[in-house]
Amino acid sequence: MTSAVLPTYARADLAFERGEGVYAFTADGTRYLDFGSGIAVNALGHTHPHLVSALSEQAGKIWHTANTFRIQGQERLAERLAAATFADVAFFCNSGAEANEAAIKMARKYQSATGHPERWRIITFEGAFHGRTLATIAAGGQEKHLAGFGPKVDGFDQVPFEDREAVKKAVTQETAAILIEPIQGEGGVRAASPQFMRYLRAVCDENDLLLVLDEVQCGVGRTGWLFAHEMAGITPDIMAIAKALGGGFPIGACLATRRAAIGMTAGTHGSTFGGNPLAMAVANAVLDVILAPGFLEHVRRMALLLRQRLAGLIDTYPMLFEEIRGEGLMIGLKCAIPNTEILTALRDQHLLAVGGGDNTIRLLPPLIIEEKHIGEAMDALHAMAMTLTRAQKESAA
Ligand SMILES: *Cc1c(COP(=O)(O)O)cnc(C)c1O
Repeated sequence: MTSAVLPTYARADLAFERGEGVYAFTADGTRYLDFGSGIAVNALGHTHPHLVSALSEQAGKIWHTANTFRIQGQERLAERLAAATFADVAFFCNSGAEANEAAIKMARKYQSATGHPERWRIITFEGAFHGRTLATIAAGGQEKHLAGFGPKVDGFDQVPFEDREAVKKAVTQETAAILIEPIQGEGGVRAASPQFMRYLRAVCDENDLLLVLDEVQCGVGRTGWLFAHEMAGITPDIMAIAKALGGGFPIGACLATRRAAIGMTAGTHGSTFGGNPLAMAVANAVLDVILAPGFLEHVRRMALLLRQRLAGLIDTYPMLFEEIRGEGLMIGLKCAIPNTEILTALRDQHLLAVGGGDNTIRLLPPLIIEEKHIGEAMDALHAMAMTLTRAQKESAA
């Protein structure tokens, strides 16, 4: 397969032509159950009628005006996000990495604007993923993402996940903030305990540091809560979100309290495309659905059901799976054989899932799944497991 596309992805030789709800279809009409959601992006599945009409309607009005003018959709989306969260203000961009860049800049700027320009370092965690820009690969700290790209951007101090002593030791006179994913996604679906999240909040409060959350993957309903930090009963000062917020349309946002955003005055940051009317129309439509009464309860109900069934699968096939991780419909299965083998075998059963760090596969189904889709996914998982265990036995014999 030669292609003019830069080969930065190990792609499966599979392409989808259209999607409908929880299903994606190849050109020859083969149907796949999409439990990957384009990596937690298509939270409302494919071609959700409300999103299609919001986008089409906006496409016939105006596409782009630049941020030198007021954009109604931004004002509405920012107000709704503020009303639903800890935040007072929102900056709009186009991706998760950009949302984190804005968050990192804002945290540093807060310290310099409040008399502490010497505080610019940020504590981050092993196994983190915050994006692929130069600053966010430094924040993530993964050697495989940093190698060959020159000196690592300075200002990030990485400590082990869930390690309170290491966090305490890492706080110095130069520390500005702590940045964490409440549930690590790419790192293998590792959830920080509520106790650890509360500990980080307390450390920030004691030292006038900002708590910055990367909820790019775990946010916007994925856990059955609008945002994952709600489960710990704390609020951040700054939060990066993206993925599901656009339901498949590129968007990112950096939410903050007015206090944390104090340094971000006119001219300090920007984005040409950020908060574009098309993206705003879609994101507002996504919120219409996710904020509707009963939606998050539905997510929690489906998550419970799916997790119960998955626990049974793991009990039956300990030679394939070690444990189940995550919260709500952000599910990681730690594999006992290479995760790529399981992903390929699942694709053969027409079920799409996503790989993750620490030899996991991620199940990130659209939040609109129903009981029957869980049944279909479990059938595919059991068929995959039977095929793989049979192959294991044959090669052993
Ligand atoms: C996907 C992801 C990012 C990066 O988002 P992009 O849109 O790819 O830039 C950052 N943080 C987390 C937690 C993510 O899952």
